[in-house]
Amino acid sequence: MSVTIFNIDPGSIAQELGIEKGDILLSVNGEQFTDALEYKFLTAEEYVELEILQGDEIVVYEIEKEPYEDIGLSFENSLIDEPRSCRNKCIFCFIDQLPKGLRKPLYFKDDDTRLSFLTGNYVTLTNVKDEEIDKVIRLRLSPINVSVHATEPELRKQMLNNRFGGRIMEHIRKLTENGITVNCQIVLVKGVNDGVHLEKSVRDLSDFYPGVHSISVVPVGISDHREGLYPLSPFEKADAEEVVSLLEKLQEENRKKYGSRIVYIADEFYLKAEQEIPDIEVYEDFPQIENGVGMLSSMQEELCCELKTERKEVRPGKRSIATGLCAYDYIRRFADMVQQRYPQVEIDVHPVENRLFGHRVNVAGLLSGGDLLAGLSGKQLGDTLILTRSMLRAEGDLFLDDMTPQELEEKLGVKVVFVENEGKDFVDKILK
Ligand code: SF4
Repeated sequence: MSVTIFNIDPGSIAQELGIEKGDILLSVNGEQFTDALEYKFLTAEEYVELEILQGDEIVVYEIEKEPYEDIGLSFENSLIDEPRSCRNKCIFCFIDQLPKGLRKPLYFKDDDTRLSFLTGNYVTLTNVKDEEIDKVIRLRLSPINVSVHATEPELRKQMLNNRFGGRIMEHIRKLTENGITVNCQIVLVKGVNDGVHLEKSVRDLSDFYPGVHSISVVPVGISDHREGLYPLSPFEKADAEEVVSLLEKLQEENRKKYGSRIVYIADEFYLKAEQEIPDIEVYEDFPQIENGVGMLSSMQEELCCELKTERKEVRPGKRSIATGLCAYDYIRRFADMVQQRYPQVEIDVHPVENRLFGHRVNVAGLLSGGDLLAGLSGKQLGDTLILTRSMLRAEGDLFLDDMTPQELEEKLGVKVVFVENEGKDFVDKILK
């Protein structure tokens, strides 16, 4: 594949050589590349030859550099080619449950091993040929995050609605035997892959440790927009208690057998079971914190550490925090910890119902601008409203329903600030 150079980094090797924006990169070390990862892999060498089309002339640049030193070329699309979409029709797919009328990218179902490596997305490996598994190994795309859901081939095929879904153990075996670390996710669907199926999946995957570094078990999300979809039931308190008890038993077995728990339980299961979130030791190196697993435990610990140091600059006054119904009790507890330490600050915490997706979706990160507006209008919010950054898209400019933070500020008449899900930022944003 040839690719047009979109930009040259200032001060880079490429700029020094006189390569220009708009030139066309034809090959690296005489090899064609198909995407950004191959390009990165090929240019990691100490000696690199770039074949570049400049106007009508092909120029070959010979570069000697440090291993892994970036040459300074960038391309319009960070993947170079388009992200690959999924070929499944999972019975629990949350994208199928989105209301109509949201922005288009939210409906895109990606399932791309390159994105797993670059941005941590979970992939099912149902749309990859054997050569592509070889490519993951050759390019050392490690770690990768894999959505497993079930290790029994027929059950996985049924859950993914894909006849190619049954080879997951074979793929994971090949990846781990060749030095690729795999983090697995199980989306738990009540009455489908729980109970004995869950136990088998966790045991099967744990056998690959340390190649399989972690397994997270997260509950299926169920919105109100499910016309014509597979019937799903939410986990109730007793179901969540069973899940926690089974997984804690497997954690203990794994700890004795492998020296690691390997499997980690989503915060939502403890909250649903009305049990205390475990101490940080239980999450070991927090391998799935990006997936929200262990977030509350980590925040609580960071908060305790943060509050040991006295802040000199504290702005007195009233602040408000809005959160989902799910973690309300914990956020209230965190706010109380800050308020006890700094009584000159008053903190209200408002649980906000999700109207966009329905009441069963109760995590803060899926609240829309409209939900916040409906839930907070007419309330005395003090001088600042604090929200989690995860409510916004990656660019930080829009809620799920395309409302901007500025619009929300104007409509509620309060300054809005966003906080990362970590203790120090939580204290900073409340006190400043
Ligand atoms: S892999 Fe399944 S859950 Fe993920 S986007 Fe595709 S259909 Fe949806």
